[in-house]
This record gives sequence, C-alpha cells and structure tokens, in this order.
Amino acid sequence: MSGNSHFDDDDFAKEASAAGGRSFDEFDCPDCSANNVNVENFSDGDEVRCMYCGNEYVARISAEGKLKFKSA
Ligand SMILES: [Zn+2]
Repeated sequence: MSGNSHFDDDDFAKEASAAGGRSFDEFDCPDCSANNVNVENFSDGDEVRCMYCGNEYVARISAEGKLKFKSA
C-alpha cells in the first residue's frame, strides 16, 4: 500500500491559465530528442530551453494536455 495522492506542486500551477492549468517540469527536446528533466515548471505559452542543444522553444499545450513546441 503506497498511496501517493499527495502532490506538492499546487502552488507552482497557480499562474497557469490556459489548457486547464496544466504544467510540466520535463520535456523531450523536439530537435535533439534529449529528455530534459527537473526544468523550471512551465505551462502553455512559456519558453523552455533544451539544456543539451541550447535551442529555445515555446511550449504549446493542447486542450487534451498534449505538449508541443514551436521554435522561439
Ligand atoms: Zn535539444
């Protein structure tokens, strides 16, 4: 029995507005496919930077919660 229903990141999500307030703290780089983890919490419209190739992207989160990127 391991109930992990306790999430601590409610405070981080309060500035999220679009896409139902969904936010992420990791992503796969669309350019070099690197898995960026423990990045600063981001949500729809925020810019993220790949820590491997250095490219910047604008995060787009669909209504279904799917994460996509556009070149910044
Ligand atoms: Zn990259």
